[in-house]
Amino acid sequence: MANQSPSSAGLHWVEGPRVTKVPSEPFVGQLFIDGEWRDASDGGRVTRTSPAYGVLAGDYARATIADTEDAINAARKAFDHGEWPKMTGAQRGAILHKVADLVMERQEEFALLELMESGKPISQARDEIEWAAELWRYAAVCARGLHGDSHNTLGEDMLAMVVREPIGVVSVITPWNFPFLIVSQKLPFALAAGCTAVVKPSELTSGTTVLLAELLKEAGLPAGAANILVGKGSEIGSTMTSHKEIDMVTFTGSSAVGKALSASAAQTLKKVALELGGKNPQIIFPDCDWDAAVDAVVFGVYFNAGECCNSGSRILVHESIAEKFEQAVIERSRQVPVGDPLCEETKVGAIISETHMQTIKGFVQGAREAGAKVTLGGEQLETAGLYMQPTILSAVSPDMEVAHEEIFGPVLSVLTFKDLDQAIEIANDCLYGLSAGVWSANIENCLAIGRKVKAGTVWINTWMNGYPELPFGGYKESGQGRELGRFGIEEFTELKTIQMHMGPRTGWWLPKNK
Ligand code: NAD
Repeated sequence: MANQSPSSAGLHWVEGPRVTKVPSEPFVGQLFIDGEWRDASDGGRVTRTSPAYGVLAGDYARATIADTEDAINAARKAFDHGEWPKMTGAQRGAILHKVADLVMERQEEFALLELMESGKPISQARDEIEWAAELWRYAAVCARGLHGDSHNTLGEDMLAMVVREPIGVVSVITPWNFPFLIVSQKLPFALAAGCTAVVKPSELTSGTTVLLAELLKEAGLPAGAANILVGKGSEIGSTMTSHKEIDMVTFTGSSAVGKALSASAAQTLKKVALELGGKNPQIIFPDCDWDAAVDAVVFGVYFNAGECCNSGSRILVHESIAEKFEQAVIERSRQVPVGDPLCEETKVGAIISETHMQTIKGFVQGAREAGAKVTLGGEQLETAGLYMQPTILSAVSPDMEVAHEEIFGPVLSVLTFKDLDQAIEIANDCLYGLSAGVWSANIENCLAIGRKVKAGTVWINTWMNGYPELPFGGYKESGQGRELGRFGIEEFTELKTIQMHMGPRTGWWLPKNK
């Protein structure tokens, strides 16, 4: 199908005014290893072009395997011989708080860089930087609260302690969709626990993670405690996941890469924490708060242009209201402001890359061929930059690819159900299990969905709220382990049991004449 011009597409297209000019120069970054900036050992570079404006947005030193090994060795040295793991929780927390302060001082700079590389709207980019700073603050508090356990019920001659020690050197690998938020779900918690780290953001959106290194240094993080590399997963990923000096890998990204990375880490039995994809259902009952549910469906699928692990990319609607509800969603979708990310009004920005645009369009075409109806959008917009129309696919049956595969674009699949049991069955008929939602005034329906749908998070009469206090992660192929909450820091620890005996030994065997 031919691309469609924004004016004929029947959508709310935004092209001005801009909050600032498109930067004329790219962000230029180096590798941050052992507290110092340096170029790649072979002089290699990797660049990033803005998906919204087509201009050069980032230009980075591209790490080689030798650079990666240097970063790992620096993190090892900082862990085994450095001061970071030995500091008190309060001292580590003070540095993490300082990082949060510095992030907020430079919020606009971070937001603009994130926007240029990802194509997301300015208002959302600003929010994300603020949420991320909040995670650094929460982790700072966790650093002080981390503790183990004690047992004094093992007999009067035995006292035992269970202590939580930092697991060691952690590889942190992040995706392109929420670059600064996701590194902030991992790195401050690893640091709070006393670990040291080697961090690799996606090569498509490395800027804010590289900029973070400046702040880590300014805040007083010791050299080697966090090392930042830019490079391709296919080039340095396996070194980060298989090197003998790495103790743990924490990864957010696709389930396919998560599986490959897990296999690589298994050779040395490293701990692996995975935050992967999702195909998250919102289940709509006839007694829902209609307006709230329509709004949440539109937010759920178009937030971050649908490039979101938590995207509410499928809705299961009770058959008695399906037609009317879908019509309401279509009408609301036409009003969502799509367009220039530098405009305050924009809610849906550009798609991350041409390759990913083709993937999204391929899913839509596959759905057409399988018998689904495109009731809204379905095309790329004929304009500068990579923009996809808000898209709705109806008459989707559970066996279609678009009912259970992650599209990662602004594309909603509409399915129907007859009763509660069928809704639960369809919701669970998927390899993913990241999140789910239910809209109903009936608490029985809500709790049944809450308890029986296999997902790491279930939202009842709300969608996609998140708090640093609450753990986040997935069932099934959506991942393993949890981030945030007290689990967020505990994931980066090993438990050690220490047993202390008091008084004379009354043990296994003693000579008779004693
Ligand atoms: P991706 O898996 O392609 O890449 C993620 C990261 O892994 C990048 O830094 C990449 O360079 C690196 N990588 C690639 N191959 C590697 C290898 N062999 N070894 C080590 N590292 C390697 O994912 P993406 O396209 O950047 O992100 C989109 C995916 O991320 C979606 O599936 C989305 O659902 C998922 N995601 C999940 C969550 C969550 O919290 N569950 C959050 C955001 C994104």
